[in-house]
Amino acid sequence: EGDLLKGKRGLIMGVANKNSIAWAIAQQLKAQGAELCFSYIEAMEKRVRPLAEELGVDFLVPCDVTDDASMDASFGAIKERWGEMDFLVHSIAFSDKDELKGSFVENTTRENFRNSLDISAFSFVDSARRSAEMMKPGGSMITLTYLGSERVIPSYNVMGVAKAALEASTRYIARDLGPKGIRVNAISAGAIKTLSLGGIQGGRSLLSEGRNWSPLREDTDPVGVAGAALYLLSDLGKSCTGEVLHVDAGFHIVGMPDPEALGG
Ligand code: NAD
Repeated sequence: EGDLLKGKRGLIMGVANKNSIAWAIAQQLKAQGAELCFSYIEAMEKRVRPLAEELGVDFLVPCDVTDDASMDASFGAIKERWGEMDFLVHSIAFSDKDELKGSFVENTTRENFRNSLDISAFSFVDSARRSAEMMKPGGSMITLTYLGSERVIPSYNVMGVAKAALEASTRYIARDLGPKGIRVNAISAGAIKTLSLGGIQGGRSLLSEGRNWSPLREDTDPVGVAGAALYLLSDLGKSCTGEVLHVDAGFHIVGMPDPEALGG
């Protein structure tokens, strides 16, 4: 508990259930005094409402990021209730799970390529633009990304391409909003057991490889991801923008697993 975000208001996009990374982040931000709004897709309402209640959050807006009218309505509701906002958490991604396996070059369709990039990358650009209109200097935004943008990860396929677009977008948005005093960063989290991970074939091996090969030899703890979010969204993160911060038990630095981790 503390007051690093006392008097600050922000939107959390992407809570689906208690395993969601956005939920871990929301808890930490709330514990530091932030006032929160949750956006959710209709299908998840039954799961999200009780979680919001648990945290004492009474401001929820339905929002499908593929639909302009839905984006207008949710950001309109925030403008009406708050007028201004201080931070944005974008924790949204989607791809047809039939394409999160096997050969990327063989399995990727135009429709799912478009859809994945729309939901997983463009939605951050769109949300950032709409949020910035309500932010004063000191505002801060984050998105969630994964190492599959930088390296080839089995089955991650078109999501890796979407995450590369998301990270590049983070840098361009940071350039555009920097002169307004708004910081924009990404957290590259290690594998965490969530609904989204379940959509990736062999998702479980992403977890176990992370545990076996990472320097810390442990799973990525959502609490650590939330701590990075707190750093980036509060004034602790002053002067940090355009950054992709890895919170993955160090997995991203490993070029080759230790023979010991392979049992050799
Ligand atoms: P999650 O399934 O709990 O969250 C994904 C969210 O995206 C859900 O809340 C879902 O409702 C939302 N979403 C999907 N389509 C949407 C749409 N059209 N409009 C609005 N919202 C939509 O899983 P998560 O793992 O917490 O994922 C959150 C973010 O973290 C994603 O960007 C994911 O790629 C990223 N990430 C996850 C991991 C991991 O291992 N779980 C690792 C690194 C990064």
